[in-house]
Amino acid sequence: MIYADNAATTKVDIDVFEAMKPYFMVSYCNASEPYKFAREGKKALKKARETIANCINAEPEEIYFTSCGTESDNWAIKGIALANKLQGKIITSVIEHHAVLHACKAMEQLGLQVEYLPVDKKGVVSLSSLRNAIDDKTKLVSIMTANNEIGSIQEIKQLADIAHSKGTLFHTDAVQAIGHIPLDVKYLGVDMLSASGHKFNAPKGIGFMYIKKGTNIIPFMHGGAQEYKLRAGTENVAFAIGMAKALELNCHRMHQTEQHLLNLESIILNKLDTANIDYIRNGAVKRTPGNISLSFKGFEGEALLHRLDLKGICVSTGSACDSQNTQISHVLKAIGLEEGYALGTIRISLGRYNTFDEADYIGDTLVNIIKNRK
Ligand code: PLP
Repeated sequence: MIYADNAATTKVDIDVFEAMKPYFMVSYCNASEPYKFAREGKKALKKARETIANCINAEPEEIYFTSCGTESDNWAIKGIALANKLQGKIITSVIEHHAVLHACKAMEQLGLQVEYLPVDKKGVVSLSSLRNAIDDKTKLVSIMTANNEIGSIQEIKQLADIAHSKGTLFHTDAVQAIGHIPLDVKYLGVDMLSASGHKFNAPKGIGFMYIKKGTNIIPFMHGGAQEYKLRAGTENVAFAIGMAKALELNCHRMHQTEQHLLNLESIILNKLDTANIDYIRNGAVKRTPGNISLSFKGFEGEALLHRLDLKGICVSTGSACDSQNTQISHVLKAIGLEEGYALGTIRISLGRYNTFDEADYIGDTLVNIIKNRK
């Protein structure tokens, strides 16, 4: 089996797994307890927070562990909306993940105003569209760092600057970006950033949110005093440690991984070009490494996915959450892709475990499927 759906989830690294192991059956304490046995867990949690903070140039007290990217996104949107008593406006983009879009819709139903910025053909939000939309009522701007379907990377620093020029908070969903492209929260000037461990070789069920010190946000979970009283619930020590280890490893080898992924991308695309296949590669030039969103006119993405599956290759059609859905995704609609191409879209997302041989096989198989369809 060749796994080429790394934007959906990634394999846990063996080093990550090893780092987590002691916290299941040896140091299994509840990190909030005051006795000696709990100290090890507490210390490990503190270290995990420091490691993550170092990777994104934050302070450890600005890192809040959550259960996933969806939770972090929901917290950012709802936490700010509620802190402002549902008054004012949130600005986001039409190509956000549903974790942001549906959270915004929920707030809209409660009376908050939400404005959705369009994107260009490459899936990029223009700075001028934010400048035109933002006003004194705007409480939050939320724009994703990188898109999950087509990989396009936004100009986060410039967008955050525009938000701040109006005294507005800026959140970015960095779930697809963190661990894959360099991110420095101080340089970018973001107030909040969402992340999810399973997109960078940590397990599913752990994420975090960076919240800049002093940000006025309502807790997402009410209960105990964990996570500086902002996110109640017994800490998932083992998974937090795994996520910190995974992020540290990915940040160290980021450049090397990127080079590897770009080489693999070229192998696949060269095979399509050599065979004179008609396709569109979606997304901006600045995109997450390993993301290859391809549209083939006159094909059905779903059918391509199944034919690749029969040959032992796992890819997806649109976003992972949309793969049961044969309609054109909101992202492909937003970039204005012609329907004939949009319906025939697949997303190959390569990861650090993919090999040159696998890229060869993916390229050859895809060429065969496209050439021999009739
Ligand atoms: N945001 C983006 C951009 C994503 O790609 C995803 C997952 O695909 C999420 C949020 C949700 O993350 P999680 O699966 O950890 O809930």
